[in-house]
Amino acid sequence: MTNNKVIDAVVVGAGFAGMYTLYRMLGAGFSARVFEAGDNVGGTWYWNRYPGARCDVESMEYSYSFDEDLQQKWNWSERYATQPELLKYANHVADNFKLRPHISFNTRVVSAHYDESSATWLVTTDQGEEIRTRFCIMATGCLSSVNQPDFEGIANFKGNTYHTGQWPHEGVDFTGRRVGIIGTGSSSIQSIPLIAEQAKELTVFQRTANFSVPAHNQDLDDNYVEEVKGDYGAFREENRQMHGGFGARRPKHEDSIWDADDETIQNRLEERWALGGLGFTGAFADLGLSVEANNIAAEFIREKIRGMVDDPEVAELLCPNGIVGCKRLCVDTNYYATYNRDNVSLVDVSEHPVDRLTDKGIVTNNTEYEFDDIIFATGFDAMTGTLLKIDIRGKDGLTLQEKWEAGPRTYLGLSTYGFPNLFTISGPGSPSVLSNMILTIEQHVNWIMDCLGYMRDGQVASIEANLDAEDAWVNQGNEFANMTLMPMCNSWYLGANVPGKPRVFMPFVGGIPLYFETCDKVAANNYEGFTLNTG
Ligand code: NAP
Repeated sequence: MTNNKVIDAVVVGAGFAGMYTLYRMLGAGFSARVFEAGDNVGGTWYWNRYPGARCDVESMEYSYSFDEDLQQKWNWSERYATQPELLKYANHVADNFKLRPHISFNTRVVSAHYDESSATWLVTTDQGEEIRTRFCIMATGCLSSVNQPDFEGIANFKGNTYHTGQWPHEGVDFTGRRVGIIGTGSSSIQSIPLIAEQAKELTVFQRTANFSVPAHNQDLDDNYVEEVKGDYGAFREENRQMHGGFGARRPKHEDSIWDADDETIQNRLEERWALGGLGFTGAFADLGLSVEANNIAAEFIREKIRGMVDDPEVAELLCPNGIVGCKRLCVDTNYYATYNRDNVSLVDVSEHPVDRLTDKGIVTNNTEYEFDDIIFATGFDAMTGTLLKIDIRGKDGLTLQEKWEAGPRTYLGLSTYGFPNLFTISGPGSPSVLSNMILTIEQHVNWIMDCLGYMRDGQVASIEANLDAEDAWVNQGNEFANMTLMPMCNSWYLGANVPGKPRVFMPFVGGIPLYFETCDKVAANNYEGFTLNTG
């Protein structure tokens, strides 16, 4: 079905980014269609329904700020919102702002081809629809393509298989079942304690031990909520001044670990442990910059693990060797203590990988483990996976796959040379996954909307990142990343978790204040680094 009308924008995805884009587009008088693969809104919180799924950024911070009424009236129940509560919130936003009529659900965008002569994109969907649009806005999320390892014999397994990132909507009852779970990242660390309570036996296959700190989740304190809501605008602004866009009202430390004596170091790390959450790595300014400083924090966590896990051999296996915060720090509730249960066991697959699946279970190191259910908690083809699955072709038929063959290249994480009028929200090269995502989504959408308004006022037909601006941005991003310890491990930030993926550090590590300031300057200087054509 082809529609000859040219609309202003196609937005891909109806998660928090797609919904806010749609809201702003409609408010500014632009025509927009949103396409969403799922049958409802919510993005990451629509797909990741595994037991224990909850956000690791606090709920008063991980929420939209664009509407005062919304932020005043919505009541979060816990310090960290659960997946069901976040999904309820997403649905509330869709209903409250009457977004649904503009969203096509159960519809996947399969291609987007740019036509230079008309400065428009032709977008096609798996429902056979063709839409011509001036702008393509990719609100596809950073963790939306699952990483499913291609284990030999996977089709032979007679039991049920699940991926944490594509969890059945009706839930899964593991009561009385023998369950195997592969992977020990955030998804696994959140779900293991709850699955262990249900399953007859739970066997965890660990390739790399991860650092995890306690969430200390709790019901939200009414006084705290009242204080924040008393001036929510100020609270949001304070968080915008934070490196990651969150944590403004918690204790901050900017001193070096080398200026502190042993007692101060121990007390500080204990204080952070007691506080719970991602702020642990903020105990001293140099934990993310110096291996020696980081190792003090790493050893502190290892000692905590040894204190929580009864069996010393299991405890040692659970102790990570690497750098705290190099892979995304995990935030848990009762993860380590779960290994003290009689029905939970740990299998180290670091030296002898998962060899194959059989009809009965998993084989590693010549041993077959039998299961009723196998869970793949094996993560995502992060940041670029979903974008590269769409057949995106820019000027001269250049595909995004070709352009990003050696890793993603963008200007500000918002745009890529050769692909005019295409914007990526939370794209590679932006703070994205290293930030409070909703805050940076709002900033990206606001920037794009200002840009679209500027183009409308000036009758500009197309905007395209310049190659030199893009190169400079990529180089600067790499320089920032190399100043930190973050490129030193096999993380998904680097694409190292997906076989064959180019090893490039993808998110911008320079922090929110610098990033926002740079974007503002680019806009204030008439979109410096971009070419605007009145065509
Ligand atoms: P992940 O962090 O990438 O973890 C995947 C796990 O699977 C790793 O332990 C990995 O081992 C293992 N794995 C992958 N392939 C394997 C193979 N072939 N054999 C054995 N093990 C294999 O994925 P995730 O846990 O889904 O988390 C991804 C991100 O989503 C998080 O970092 C976070 O940003 C986000 N997330 C957030 C929350 C939250 O807000 N609380 C919750 C869940 C997820 P290796 O380490 O050896 O590669």
